[in-house]
Parts: sequence; C-alpha cells; structure tokens
Amino acid sequence: MSFEETLSYDDVLLLPSYSEVLPEDIDLGVELFAGVRLNVPVLSAAMDTVTEQQMAIGLALQGGVGVIHRNLTVDEQARQVAAVKRYLNWIIAAPLTVTEDLTVREVWEQMQANDVSGMPVVRGNTLVGIITSRDMRFCSDLSLKVRDVMTSDLVVEVGRPDIASAQQKFNTHKIEKLPVVDDAGELTGLITVKDMEKHRQFPRAAVDQHGRLLVGAAVAPNGLAERMSALVEAQADFVVMDAAHGDSKNVLDGVRYIKQHYDLPVVGGNIATAEGAEHLIDAGADAIKVGVGPGSICTTRVVAGIGVAQFSAVRNAAEVAVKRGVPVIADGGIKYSGDIAKALAAGAHAVMIGNLFAGLRESPGREIIFEGRIFKTYRGMGSLGAIKQGSGDRYQMAQGEDPVPEGVEGRVPYKGELEPFLHQLVVGVKKGMGYCGCATLAELRAYEKFVRVTSAGLKEGHVHDVAITQEPPNYSR
Ligand code: IMP
Repeated sequence: MSFEETLSYDDVLLLPSYSEVLPEDIDLGVELFAGVRLNVPVLSAAMDTVTEQQMAIGLALQGGVGVIHRNLTVDEQARQVAAVKRYLNWIIAAPLTVTEDLTVREVWEQMQANDVSGMPVVRGNTLVGIITSRDMRFCSDLSLKVRDVMTSDLVVEVGRPDIASAQQKFNTHKIEKLPVVDDAGELTGLITVKDMEKHRQFPRAAVDQHGRLLVGAAVAPNGLAERMSALVEAQADFVVMDAAHGDSKNVLDGVRYIKQHYDLPVVGGNIATAEGAEHLIDAGADAIKVGVGPGSICTTRVVAGIGVAQFSAVRNAAEVAVKRGVPVIADGGIKYSGDIAKALAAGAHAVMIGNLFAGLRESPGREIIFEGRIFKTYRGMGSLGAIKQGSGDRYQMAQGEDPVPEGVEGRVPYKGELEPFLHQLVVGVKKGMGYCGCATLAELRAYEKFVRVTSAGLKEGHVHDVAITQEPPNYSR
C-alpha cells in the first residue's frame, strides 16, 4: 500500500524571488465565469452565520462576492438575492412609473410601499414628466393630480448614456433622478444620483453588465427545481451546489440537472481529489469548489476519518481543472491572508471564507458578550443547531434522523466592519505576490515555487518569545 502525503497551508511557504512588482501594480481581478468578474478573489461562505444579504452587499461593494446560504425558505433566500441585486444600479431598466391622473396621495403611498423617492410620469410609454418627493413635500392638498405638481421641464439622457455625461447632468442641473429615453421619447430607464454616488464611493465593486452587485446562492440536490426557479427569477448570478460530498451521484445529477434546465453558472462541490474534480467537470460544473474537512468548525475528518489536507486538495483538483479550463475555488481553512496567497498559488482562482468573516458586523451571527468581550456566533452547517434548522441534507442525513453532526457551534471575536478587515487580507495577498514577482493571479497560479515547512519552521514563522502588547489588525493566535 502506498500513501500520498498531503499538505495543509501550514506545511508550505511560497519561495520569495527577484521582483520588480510593487503591491500597487498588482491586479487581483479574476473572471470566475463569463460575466462574473471579481476584483478581489474572495467569496463568503454559504453559511447561516456568515452570508445573508448584508454580507453579500458589503463584500460585492468591495469587489468580492457572497453566496447566500440555503438554511432559508426558498422565498426568503430569493428575496435576499433580489435585495442584493436591487442595491446598486447603473441604469434601472424597468423603473416604477406613474400616470398623470393619479393623486399625490396615491403617489406617496406607492413611493412608501416601494421605498423610492421619485418616479417618471408616462403616457403609454412616453415620458411626460417626473415626480419626486421634493415636488410633493410642500403640497398640502393630497388630492391634487400628478400633472399639477410634476416637473415637466425634463433633463433626460437619450439613447445609451455614458457615466461621464450622466454625471455632468446631475452636477449641472442639481437633480436626483435622470430618466433615459429613446429617440421616440419612450422611457427606457432611470439613473439615480444615489446609484451614481455609490458607484463613485465603491469603484472596485463586483458588478454585472447592468452595474448591479454580483451575488451567488446555495442550492442542494433536494428541492432543486423549486429553489432554482426562484433564484433565476431573483436574478442570482450563479448558484453553488452546496454539499459536503460533491463526488456523489445525487450531487453530480444535480449539477447535470441545472445545466440541462437553466442558463446559469453552477459551482459544483465539494471535492478534494483529482477524480472528484473530473466528475464534477464532466457533469458540467462551471467551477469546482475544493475542501473536505479543512473548515475551522468542521469535524468531518475526525467523525468520518476522511479528508485531504487542503493545500494538496487544491493542487490536485487544480491540475485537472486547469487542463479543462475550469476555475477552482478553495473553500475552508483560511486563517491568515498568507493562506489566501498559498491557496491562489496552489491553483485556486478564488477562496471561500467562513471563519474570518463570521466576526464582522455584516455577518448574520448573533453578537454575544463573554467575559466582557464581544463575540459573534459561528457554527458549522453540519452542527446540531444548523441541522435542526434544515441543513442536515448537506451531510447526507435524512429528515427526522437522529443528527450525527460534522461541525460545531462556537463563537469568534467581533472584528468590526468588513471594509478595513478585507483591506488587510487584500494587501496581505498583494504583499505575497510582490515577494514572488507576480503581478496577476494568473502569474501566481503559474509560479509553482513552494518550500516545505517543519514544525520548527512553523513555530519560527509565528510570533515567538514575546508577549504582544498591541495586537495588529491582521494577526492574532
Ligand atoms: P472556514 O473558513 O475555515 O471556517 O471554513 C468554511 C467552510 O467550511 C465552508 O465554506 C464549508 O465548506 C465548510 N463547512 C461549513 N459548515 C461545515 C460543517 O459543519 N462541517 C464541515 N464543514 C463545514
């Protein structure tokens, strides 16, 4: 019998080499699938203490993407996906409109119900005016008609507007909404100053072709058709087949089913071997997710006695995937920014993170105070608590079966907001790339220079023989 020795992130280091690359020259952009381009190669995990709409919005604004978990009803998961898609627009393609004969009272009601502050006024499809909360604020007679209070001297964009021209109109005319019309004067869209400001504030946001934030959603082989239809309707950019054993018949069948019935990219997973990668790619997966047992909350390896140390798992899968032109996502086991650099150098196009994000303000986990310090809850989707809420099928458990968990429920220190925290991770990865002379992620994937670390080397690499008196934002033990 021969054993393959498998390595984890702590077992290796990237070998530094001559470099002319400065961190500011480095591009962390990556195309996961056609039309899904990240500016930061990071996904947040599909876990009920990590990714709901707030995390997905926060991460996409910073250039990554969130995967909304599936321990939610189909309707609630789809609602959250739709909320992320609505958060940011370039041009709202089908804005809410009103007609001239409505009363001011009716318009107020519509604005409040839909949480908008102004609407174009149309006759048929033709734009005839715009009514905003500003027009109505000093209107004491709510029975007046829209035509009596609307602005009909309109500033518009005609045809296909560009950002610079729209910005100039907002600045010159001090308006908040800019309707877009075609040559015949028919309304084709609406640009809002709020969206323009958000685009300016978040220039690295990961967006689709309409300028809306990217978002993914988790699905499972069970109840696939219903969940998929709702997610397609909510305009998810991709789905993730969220299963602990991706190299299994029902998961592979699920991937095939999605590819046959929907025109949406699907991430298949999780696997930890080259054969598993082959099978998922054969089934049609547009990307494969690697990780069996590396997660910080995971007990799969000790409960079931299976797994592959994560650095080797990523490398083995990537060897196959690169030949087939399919990207790899390294899922789980990331403890520091240096682990992200190692995962990307091992062949991953992006990493998926649970633990490091669970303590952030944007995560849905509960805040708890313990011995005077603030923590947030973080639990495995195979923990008792999560299974009770429905995620047992991720671990091949039937409903009503006595749970045999593959994860734990715990807490992580509260870490504040995502933006400064992600900055530390991003710059850490860029530093790693700078030490290796790699300016792009493609160069890092091709770099292939690693050294083995002994336990003495690992000890040497961490802070030693000193008591930390001022914790840095990117290191703690
Ligand atoms: P972390 O970033 O090391 O905390 O790992 C997060 C990853 O662990 C997730 O993206 C999942 O793939 C995986 N995971 C989530 N819940 C469980 C569990 O209960 N058992 C095993 N793995 C889990």
